[in-house]
Amino acid sequence: MKILVTGGAGYIGSVMARYFLDQGDTVTVLDNLSRGYLDAVPQGAIFVQGEISDLPKYFTETNQFDAVVHMAAHSRVEESVSNPELYWHNNVIGTIKLLDGMRKLEIPKLVFASTAAVYGRAGQSPITEDTPPNPLNTYGMTKLTMDMAIASEAQAHGLSAASLRFFNVTGAYRGAGERHNPETHLIPTALKSIVEGRVIKIFGSDYPTPDGTCIRDYIHVVDLALAAKLALEKMKSSNHNIFNLGNGDGFSNLEVIDAIKNVTGKTPKVEFAPRRQGDAPSLVASSKKIRQELGWVPTKPDLEEMILDLWNFENRH
Ligand code: UDP
Repeated sequence: MKILVTGGAGYIGSVMARYFLDQGDTVTVLDNLSRGYLDAVPQGAIFVQGEISDLPKYFTETNQFDAVVHMAAHSRVEESVSNPELYWHNNVIGTIKLLDGMRKLEIPKLVFASTAAVYGRAGQSPITEDTPPNPLNTYGMTKLTMDMAIASEAQAHGLSAASLRFFNVTGAYRGAGERHNPETHLIPTALKSIVEGRVIKIFGSDYPTPDGTCIRDYIHVVDLALAAKLALEKMKSSNHNIFNLGNGDGFSNLEVIDAIKNVTGKTPKVEFAPRRQGDAPSLVASSKKIRQELGWVPTKPDLEEMILDLWNFENRH
């Protein structure tokens, strides 16, 4: 397949690009490098620096690509609450223009990085695709809006599309791993705190969960790439499908810290801090639908194995 990966200089996008190349696909990466790293683009991919909103500016031939794998987005929950206009412009307007470009260039398939954040305070566990969305932050709202824009594009113009609702992604794959600046995610922040001898703040200890800290469902980044590949192979035209992607196991923030202790043999210095704005108390996925409909089976469901892959990646960088 000839695949255009947007955001392929970022964490998940670069893993997707590496994985597709390994499967024999031809990969072009489109990234504006506002938050990605040029050296994260895997060897073997064609790189184009540019905006998702300007597809026809960079590519002129129709049918040049079989699919777009759309991973480019701003994705920091707290920033989305304090600077919402950035998220509405970049994520939503950017995606609507990307759809315009795809229509013009006659690209028939789309896989989109949606998120568990669309469910917010779901009031149901595990969360299925039928769980009513209720985003608690602007990031989740923008992703839900993009899901809806893609659904209507598929209905009206024949696009084949899948929104993969990622729960908490971690791990690394063949030299591609998590490098955010600033880093805001729990596992890489805690690993960094060990290396740098700093304190890791745990946001909130009074949530309605057994140990008072938030609960999340972690998934290895390579299993996302596997899901995207299966979706591309099996999707039908004029159809938009939503799939949740997680392992179905919830880990509290303190349990994650314990797992990090087991993997690294070092004890992160934990300090409790007030709740972070926009955080949902618990997000655990049911991935029954993608298992049944696409035959997806996670290859690395073990949290400690995910942490070990990221730890090894970070030690190399
Ligand atoms: N978290 C934390 N300290 C940090 C980073 C994150 O306590 O330095 C918590 C965060 O408040 C949430 C959980 O870890 O309860 C997962 O947050 P993360 O940013 O990793 O992913 P999210 O679920 O927001 O996508």
